[in-house]
Amino acid sequence: MLNKNDIIQLNITALTSDGDGVARTEEGIVVFIPNTAVGDVVAARILKVKKNVAYAKAEEILTPSSDRIEPDCPVSRQCGGCVYRHISYDAELAAKRQKVIDCVTRIGRLNGDLVKDIIPSEKIDGYRNKAMIPVGLDKNGEVMMGFYARHSHRIVPCIDCRLSPPVFNRIAADFYAFLIHRPGIVYTPQNRGGIRHLYLRYAESNGDVMVCVVAGKRRFEDDSLLYDSLKEKYTQIKSIIVNVNPDETNVILGKRSYTVYGKDCISDMLCGLQFDIAPRSFYQVNRAQAQRLYAVAKDYARLTGKETLIDLYCGTGTIGLSMAGDCRRLIGVEIIPEAIDNANANAKRNGIDNARFICADATAAASQLKGEKIAPDVIVIDPPRKGLTSELIETIAEMSPDRIVYVSCDPATLARDLALFTERHYSVEEITPVDLFPRTAHVEAVVMMSRKNT
Ligand code: SAH
Repeated sequence: MLNKNDIIQLNITALTSDGDGVARTEEGIVVFIPNTAVGDVVAARILKVKKNVAYAKAEEILTPSSDRIEPDCPVSRQCGGCVYRHISYDAELAAKRQKVIDCVTRIGRLNGDLVKDIIPSEKIDGYRNKAMIPVGLDKNGEVMMGFYARHSHRIVPCIDCRLSPPVFNRIAADFYAFLIHRPGIVYTPQNRGGIRHLYLRYAESNGDVMVCVVAGKRRFEDDSLLYDSLKEKYTQIKSIIVNVNPDETNVILGKRSYTVYGKDCISDMLCGLQFDIAPRSFYQVNRAQAQRLYAVAKDYARLTGKETLIDLYCGTGTIGLSMAGDCRRLIGVEIIPEAIDNANANAKRNGIDNARFICADATAAASQLKGEKIAPDVIVIDPPRKGLTSELIETIAEMSPDRIVYVSCDPATLARDLALFTERHYSVEEITPVDLFPRTAHVEAVVMMSRKNT
C-alpha cells in the first residue's frame, strides 16, 4: 500500500502528454512525477494516492537520465509554461511526436505510421511574439508580475521569461517598476478596476511592438506618465492599447479596446503577405514555425488554381490568404468580429480579390454554405483546442470536399475528430507534427485527409 509522504525509489519509463514522468510501483500502481525524464531513477515523495494512480514529487534524482540538461530558468519548476526545460530538445521532440502517435493510435484508432517526422523549431528560446503577463498582489500587498503556476491562477514572479524576445522582458521590467510604487492600481477582488495583465505583441518582420494594458477600467493613476515613458524609451512601440475587462472570468481580454497611442493593430509579414492583427485577433505565437506549418497545410491542400477553398476558424485569414493565389475562390469563417475586419483588410492590402469572409460560428456557417449549395474542393480547419463539433464534421462530410486539411493544437481532440471523419468516407493520408511551442507541453499537427472513392 502506498501512503501519502512515503518516499520510494522509482524508475521513470515514459512521459505523459503534459510532460510528467511516469513510473510504476512493484504493485503496479502508476505514479506521475513532474520535472523528471525517461531514464531517471528518483526518490519520490508520494503526495496523493488514488485508486490505481498516485502523484509524487521527485525529492532527489538518484541516477539522472541521459536526456537531462541543466534548466536555465530559475522558476522553471514552479512556472506552468515550460515543462521540458530540464531535457534536451531532441528528447522533447521525440516526446511530442510520441504524444501525437499515442493519440492517433489510441483515440483515433489509426496507424501510427501515418505520423511523419516532427518539424523542429529553429529557435527554442525567445520565439514567442506574444506574452500575457498577469499582475497581482501577494499576501503582504506587494506587487507581483509573472506567469501562472501549472493548473492554477497563482502567479509565479518572473519578468525575465526565456520564451519571450528580450524587448518583452525589458518592457515588463519597466512596467513592474512603475507598478511597484502603485499597488493601489493593481486588480484585486476588492479593486476590480485595477490592472490585470500586461499583454505584449511583437511583429518579428519589422520589430514593431504593441503594448496592451488589460484593466478593469479605462483610466488608472499616472497612466499618461506610463505611456509617455514607454513610447519615449522604446521607439519600436507602435501601439499602446487599454483593454477593459471588468468580468470575473478566466477570459483574459475584454470586448472593448481603446488605443491610447499609435495604431489599433500590429502588422507583420507572414508567408510573403502583410497582416494586420487586432488585440483580440488570433496570431500564431511562433512566426517562423507558423510559416512552416502553413507550408505543410498548403502542400496537403494540393491546389491547382481551380478550387473553391473554405478556411474554417480562419482568424485574420492567414492560412486561406496564403493559399488564395493557388485556388479559384476562398471563403473564410471566423467568430471574432475584429479578426474578420482584419481578414477583409488583409485581403485588400495584399491585392487578393477572390476571398470572402464570414463572421459566424463555424458549425452554423458550414451548414449555411451547404444550404447555399457551395461545393468546396478543399476545406481547411484550424479550431481551438476543443476541436470540432460532431455536427460540423457531419456537415463537412456532406459537402464532400476532395481533401480536408486539419490543423490542430490538441492531438487528443484531433484524434477524436479524425475517427469521426474516417467513419464518413474520409481516409487519413498523412500527419505532420510541427513544434510551435518549444519547452512547453504543446504540439501542433497538420493532417491531410482525402475522400474515399465510394
Ligand atoms: N487559422 C487561424 C486561426 C486559428 S486559431 C490562424 O492560423 O491564424 C482558432 C480561431 O478560431 C481563432 O481565431 C478563434 O477566434 C476562432 N474560433 C473559435 N471558436 C470559433 C467558432 N465556434 N467558430 C468560428 N471560429 C471560432
